[in-house]
Amino acid sequence: MPTDCLFCRIVAGDIPSTKLHEDDLVIAIRDITPQAPTHVLVLPTAHIASAAELTDADGPLLGHLFVVAASVARQEGLDGGWRLVSNVGDDGGQTVDHLHVHLLGGRPMTWPPG
Ligand code: 5GP
Ligand code: ZN
Repeated sequence: MPTDCLFCRIVAGDIPSTKLHEDDLVIAIRDITPQAPTHVLVLPTAHIASAAELTDADGPLLGHLFVVAASVARQEGLDGGWRLVSNVGDDGGQTVDHLHVHLLGGRPMTWPPG
């Protein structure tokens, strides 16, 4: 676990967060600066820098991550729909280098995102 990684420290419990889901593979936490009425981050407990680092062997992990995201969306009452976004690299808008998926909902989402 990289000790300088913010999300690894959140996974370890060293930095507090509002956890909506937690298991061995994946956690879901509320984003500290929400961009929508529901803004949740779903991330693997293991350190993976971004989606650019994934391999075919991560398929089961990603499947589980999507199932958790859908479950959290249901818990949050996002019956009208929701959006998953994963930013990669500087141009992609990634600011924390630990793979995470933004779950956004509670208002209509615009497209393109800008
Ligand atoms: P990125 O910009 O890498 O796609 O997303 C990083 C997200 O992490 C941002 O939406 C930001 O608000 C969120 N974030 C940054 N620091 C913290 C923190 O300490 N706790 C939580 N829960 N979210 C954070
Ligand atoms: Zn990490």
